[in-house]
Amino acid sequence: MTANATKQDLELVSVTKRYGDALAVDAINHHFKHASYTCLLGPSGCGKSSTLRMIAGHESVSDGSILLAGRDISHLPPARRGTAMMFQSYALFPHLTVLDNVAFSQKMAGIDAPTRRKKAAEMLELVDLGALSDRLPDQLSGGQQQRVALARALITRPQVLLLDEPLSALDPFLRIRMRAELKKLQRELGISFIHVTHGQDEALALADEVVVMNNALIEQAGPAREVFNAPKTAFVARFMGGHNVLALPDGHFAIRADALDLGAAGQGRQDATVTGIEYQGTHVSIAAKIAGDQEVIVMMPDARFFDNPTNPGETVGLIWEDTHLHRLTA
Ligand code: ADP
Ligand code: MG
Repeated sequence: MTANATKQDLELVSVTKRYGDALAVDAINHHFKHASYTCLLGPSGCGKSSTLRMIAGHESVSDGSILLAGRDISHLPPARRGTAMMFQSYALFPHLTVLDNVAFSQKMAGIDAPTRRKKAAEMLELVDLGALSDRLPDQLSGGQQQRVALARALITRPQVLLLDEPLSALDPFLRIRMRAELKKLQRELGISFIHVTHGQDEALALADEVVVMNNALIEQAGPAREVFNAPKTAFVARFMGGHNVLALPDGHFAIRADALDLGAAGQGRQDATVTGIEYQGTHVSIAAKIAGDQEVIVMMPDARFFDNPTNPGETVGLIWEDTHLHRLTA
């Protein structure tokens, strides 16, 4: 990384948010690398939006500080931070054209009409909406409205774009298409995106770095593949999905469901009783119970399962390699 890139990083230093007596964000520290795509992932109520709104300046910081490019922005107004936020509901002005919606913040900043219209037109080209600049918001589809909201956020040329559940209002098909567009846009612009989501699939698909939050704290942060493959806590293992949490004699471990295999009874590491079989197309999901009444899920490629199928009620041997176990902290 160049010295310049490092200087443009966003840092949270012991950032805390209290609403009255309630602690929504508890002294979190994080370093968001410049020009990276980060997903803040966690269940509803864990403090994701509060964190994002504090970065944007739409919510005050109760304690701690936020630094962008080494500058303390904690107490600056939103427009002077170098950040911009795209909201969950796009909040477009219904009586303004697409172009005027995008140009609106520039108008408020006192920029003359020809200049702001030109900038707005450039932003609309960027999101492939150049042809629709004279329409009103209600003449656009959900996906198009979202792109207007994106253009509106980007017109201020932020170093960091903040997105709060930007895809949640879209149908599943459009959601997958739009997330690819977000990722492409982030790469083209070379700025940082911080994207809040409660969907682990969305986070894995998009993020260079995943920051998992739980109960006002950052539970784990790292490259998407690392967080998925090596969850540090039972919460992260369960929330990311695709894992089993096993209580073994020497501790608690996570192991991917597709790293487990089945063999004949007595031939594996432990015997297990099959409790359910689900065909899932490319894979078959086999639920089984092991000692201590623990349920495990084994994900097997479909061909492997049907070469030697098992049935509920049968005893099988559960097979794994220790290298696939990840020790969990309390
Ligand atoms: P998330 O975005 O992860 O769902 P939020 O940051 O919105 O979580 O909320 C974190 C916690 O703070 C929740 O318990 C929520 O009820 C509370 N909270 C959020 N906003 C406010 C507010 N304006 N006043 C009081 N409590 C709030
Ligand atoms: Mg939220």
